Amino acid sequence: MSLGQAVIDSVAIGANIRHIAAQTRTPLMAVVKANGFGHGAVTVAEAALACGATWLGVTSTAEAMELRSAGITAPMLSWLHRADEEFADLIAANVDIGVSSLAHLHGIAEAAARTGLPAAVQLKVDVGLSRNGILGDDWTELVTYARKHEAEGSVVVRGLWSHLTNADVAGCPSVGQQVTRFHDALQVAHGAGLTPDVVHLANSGAALAAPQTRFDLCRIGLAMYGVDPFWREGVSQRALQPAMTLRTSVVNVKRVPAGTGVSYGPDYVTDRPATLALIPLGYADGLPRAAEGRASVWLAGQRCPIVGRISMDQCVVNAGDLPVSLGDPVIVFGAGTHPGERPPAVEDWAHWARTNPHEILTGIGARVARVTPQEARTR
Ligand SMILES: *Cc1c(COP(=O)(O)O)cnc(C)c1O
Repeated sequence: MSLGQAVIDSVAIGANIRHIAAQTRTPLMAVVKANGFGHGAVTVAEAALACGATWLGVTSTAEAMELRSAGITAPMLSWLHRADEEFADLIAANVDIGVSSLAHLHGIAEAAARTGLPAAVQLKVDVGLSRNGILGDDWTELVTYARKHEAEGSVVVRGLWSHLTNADVAGCPSVGQQVTRFHDALQVAHGAGLTPDVVHLANSGAALAAPQTRFDLCRIGLAMYGVDPFWREGVSQRALQPAMTLRTSVVNVKRVPAGTGVSYGPDYVTDRPATLALIPLGYADGLPRAAEGRASVWLAGQRCPIVGRISMDQCVVNAGDLPVSLGDPVIVFGAGTHPGERPPAVEDWAHWARTNPHEILTGIGARVARVTPQEARTR
């Protein structure tokens, strides 16, 4: 048995997909990049598709192939590639390729000509993020060439899309501006003769908060994993269910007097007698050192603070005067197993570490076993 377990709740993923679909009334692409935000790409993809998601989104050929190798045949878009990549693999696997430059388009058309199969592409415009996507005059050139390749039979333009800047800020004024730029870009593409099946712009935050960003498809990552894109400290309205619960157990316990230094430094000294519980998870497992002095875990029926520095493999919890024994269960974040358990949320951890929940979830290390709720119960 591993020292830490990430319990992945497929039922929660499905329920979140249903909830988001009911809110947006738009087809959904389940974004399962980065190993399904650390949850396991195949597990998440299967759960999301079973509950109504119709597309899958990934960033690379390796991620796309993992899903295809698992027998998943759903429509899929992959969007981050070197221009000189071997696109034939994606074309043969019937994976749509996101295109953000002319060099990529030509590379894809060339691979398609070689394989004798048309490549399905989705052209990405930059509406303000200045990351991937293509701007202004270059967009006009890209859609023109795409239409030319389409006429020759090497590509099929299945989609037109973009990605927003700060869509998780409800009512963010720049969203309107970006939507306008997107509409302009669509017009240019239609003018060039393109007739895509799907047009998409929204991520989780935009899909839930800004109906004008929904178009034909919403790309859902964070919310599917049960994280509230609009989380603020002290305001919890849990419509979404956490898909990952990080659990471990106490591996050492000691009673110490006031004035005892804890962990490296020490940065922390007990101010009264305390029971210290050691848990076998550290920053190598994804507990960020930056959360020092703020983080807590669920132990012995309460939230108890992690004290002193988080080390690579372990950290120390101050359980005060609570009765704690070796082997007692600890919930680092996620869902409680029993009524009345209120463990921290991944959003809390992100707040404590001054980062976003995506980074916490994708940072959960390889030593942490991903298990089903059933497996977790029988261990
Ligand atoms: C990661 C990603 C998403 C998902 O965003 P969430 O905010 O997690 O829903 C959507 N679109 C693109 C292009 C992404 O890279």
